[in-house]
Amino acid sequence: MSATKIALVAHDACKDMMVAWVGKHWDRLQHMSIVATGTTGGRIAEAHPEITMTRLKSGPLGGDQQIGALIAEEAIDGLVFFVDPMSPMPHDVDVKALTRLAIVYDLPMACSPSTADAVLDYLAGKPAR
Ligand code: PGA
Repeated sequence: MSATKIALVAHDACKDMMVAWVGKHWDRLQHMSIVATGTTGGRIAEAHPEITMTRLKSGPLGGDQQIGALIAEEAIDGLVFFVDPMSPMPHDVDVKALTRLAIVYDLPMACSPSTADAVLDYLAGKPAR
């Protein structure tokens, strides 16, 4: 069975939150295959140099679309996207596009730490794709 694959994305104001979330769940995440957008992945790697992950392009430069392609290929099992609720962003459309694809493919998607905890619990009980 292949490892459960999880995609991680965080807007700039939420990157510390993502690093903390990864640290909190390191025991489980280290057994998963992690894919992250460029800057989010860089921040995670700084805090957890031992982590193995696939880093995509930065979100606004196409990384979000790369994650979208993985969803469409049914190549990931869950998506954690910590969205900044306070600032409108030019790439708001990327959030909408990923949310839409997650719905289309019924992919568990979390946008906050507590829902991300719930997605992780769900993935623990589910065979990887
Ligand atoms: P980033 O992309 O990890 O490269 O900052 C996140 C985003 O979609 O804004």
